[in-house]
Amino acid sequence: MRTLKTCEKGHKFYKSTDCPTCPICEEERKPKDGFLSLLSAPARRALENNGISTLEGLAKYSEEEILKLHGMGKSSLPKLKKALDEEGLSFKYI
Ligand SMILES: [Zn+2]
Repeated sequence: MRTLKTCEKGHKFYKSTDCPTCPICEEERKPKDGFLSLLSAPARRALENNGISTLEGLAKYSEEEILKLHGMGKSSLPKLKKALDEEGLSFKYI
């Protein structure tokens, strides 16, 4: 039996289990381009200026290409690698 539940934010959703997790809140909690928020402002602008706003877009570049972008620092690379890794992606090999 699916039951109609209401979360504390007032979203209505059907759940077939006792799991109280609201799917709408879950979706709001993970922004699509969340990896950009991990970066410093110059590094984020470097990606945005090159039209890179998603991890899929980022994966089309090699590590070397990304490092060459104006504003991108070496310290941002581990964060980007980790974000790619979590999505099963990686930098392009050249
Ligand atoms: Zn909710």
